[in-house]
Amino acid sequence: MPNIVLKSSATHQKGIFALRHIKKGEQVITFGGDLLHRSQVDFEDYHLQVAEDFYLGPSRKLDDYINHSCAPNCGFKDGVTLVALCDIAIDDEITWDYSTAIDEEDFDGFSCGCGALACRGKVSSFRHLELKDKLRLLPHLLPYLKEKYYALKVEA
Ligand SMILES: [Zn+2]
Repeated sequence: MPNIVLKSSATHQKGIFALRHIKKGEQVITFGGDLLHRSQVDFEDYHLQVAEDFYLGPSRKLDDYINHSCAPNCGFKDGVTLVALCDIAIDDEITWDYSTAIDEEDFDGFSCGCGALACRGKVSSFRHLELKDKLRLLPHLLPYLKEKYYALKVEA
């Protein structure tokens, strides 16, 4: 039985919601899509940065529709597997923090209306976050960023 479903969202046009109680640590979804070089990506369409110049293109499945939150209930366990960071109740929207995947110098970001108390007001590249946010997000970074920013952990 699927654990999530696509519905309209209060803060976004569409979102993904829990169909049942999802326990902390449980796998929620695996991202799919073709592996694309930056030059092949349609940035107007769904995409997930997975390496310095590489992205997963749209899968046309549920993973395309998971929205950002600055206080998400999910995070990446590895490059493609999203897991619950806390217990998630039925009908809660599934979210992850896009800044744990995006890290581009020329990404200006977009304004965030996630509604979280800790909302940063903007979805930015990891490199443009404040140090306190970087340190908080370290455990959930995609593997290519974990490796790249390993020194942050050593310095902290
Ligand atoms: Zn926010």
